[in-house]
Amino acid sequence: MDSLTRRIAGLLQDRTDRPRRIAVVGAGILGLSAAWALARRGHAVTVLEGGPIPNPGGSSADEGRIIRHAYGTMQGYAAMMPAAFAAWRALFTETGQDRLVPARAIYALREETPWQGAVARTQASHGLPFAAVDPATIPTLNPEGVIRAMEVGGSGMLLAAPILADLAGLLPRCGVELRPHTPVAACPEGGPLLVDGSRVAADATLVAAGAGVLALMPEAARRFGLRASLQTIAYLDPPPGLWEDAPMLLCRLPGHATGGIYVLPPRAGTRLKIGDYDTSLTVDPAAPRHPPRAGRVAALLDAGARAIAGFDRYRLIAARHCLYTMAPEDRFVLRGVAPGVTLASACSGHGFKLAPLMALGLAAAVEGQVTGEELAFWAGGHAASA
Ligand SMILES: Cc1cc2nc3c(=O)[nH]c(=O)nc-3n(C[C@H](O)[C@H](O)[C@H](O)COP(=O)(O)OP(=O)(O)OC[C@H]3O[C@@H](n4cnc5c(N)ncnc54)[C@H](O)[C@@H]3O)c2cc1C
Repeated sequence: MDSLTRRIAGLLQDRTDRPRRIAVVGAGILGLSAAWALARRGHAVTVLEGGPIPNPGGSSADEGRIIRHAYGTMQGYAAMMPAAFAAWRALFTETGQDRLVPARAIYALREETPWQGAVARTQASHGLPFAAVDPATIPTLNPEGVIRAMEVGGSGMLLAAPILADLAGLLPRCGVELRPHTPVAACPEGGPLLVDGSRVAADATLVAAGAGVLALMPEAARRFGLRASLQTIAYLDPPPGLWEDAPMLLCRLPGHATGGIYVLPPRAGTRLKIGDYDTSLTVDPAAPRHPPRAGRVAALLDAGARAIAGFDRYRLIAARHCLYTMAPEDRFVLRGVAPGVTLASACSGHGFKLAPLMALGLAAAVEGQVTGEELAFWAGGHAASA
């Protein structure tokens, strides 16, 4: 583990002797995790959320999220994953609910890319398995066009909706003030200004507004290259008996409109879910997302048929759109934007798994244990690969 990650992860050990008033804007996984990390250090935290808590319209709202050590060529994030898993374990100890369901992960490769060599290196450095498996031994996988199926050890599913609910229950018990239906209009030094004209005084403000940052801080969002992309997911009813012990599937489809799909099996009450990899459509986060665009849903289902065996026996339960907040190179943006104000933006499809660890980084910066430059460098996944 690199020294910055070690220093940041060390914040789990004790409390601060200099408590401060912190305002957190946004109650998605990043904002709620930040509130948790700060409250357990002894800070006085207020969470300001424009919608309900949890907010079904946020990027964090879903049944399941993938967590894994494999990060392809983004070796810096791969190196941070043991600390990210440790942060989740600490959180689950405090909520009293372990919401990480171990699950095998199979990558079905249809072309040669640098991904395999990079993952082989990082899995070996974590002492985790990484091995080719015969595609014919995975009954859920459509083997057509698959040149290799690789099983990646150290993977699982985070039960996203229960985690958000657990945090919403835990935080008030830790002294955090949760303020749902409290939209923030601006985040100047000294504390956020609310849409109703009042102000929340704070020594530091963390803006974890997801795609909402584009409206709240348009200039900063532009400066850091943030945008919102429209993603499509579908919940499916599979033929009985197929998926109970089946692995997650990650299937890139070169040349396909969706870029491919990932498949989360039904576990612990979740439904089978598929989602696309197409991040090319930039949208206004405030624009209505319902009903979902028929063409995008059709493309997702077509990708499902290419990736999943016997897909004509699956029934579509529901499809919907969600937002990724895209950042350059898919890296977290944790940056100071004004004195005492830090923008915390997750990035595309890996914002959930790293949220509690990023939250510890934010707490370290609030306490001055790392500088703003160190925080930005570390959150960008550069520390471990430096
Ligand atoms: C379909 C899909 C699949 C994904 N899969 C994975 C995965 O497998 N693994 C993984 O690690 N990650 C995954 N991600 C990414 C991850 O879910 C997100 O990066 C993460 O949830 C973002 O959390 P957040 O707290 O930054 O944003 P959000 O959850 O969007 O929370 C932001 C909150 O801020 C509030 N807000 C906005 N503006 C204001 C304002 N002005 N005032 C007050 N409140 C405001 C919003 O209402 C919202 O509740 C996926 C994302 C999607 C959409």
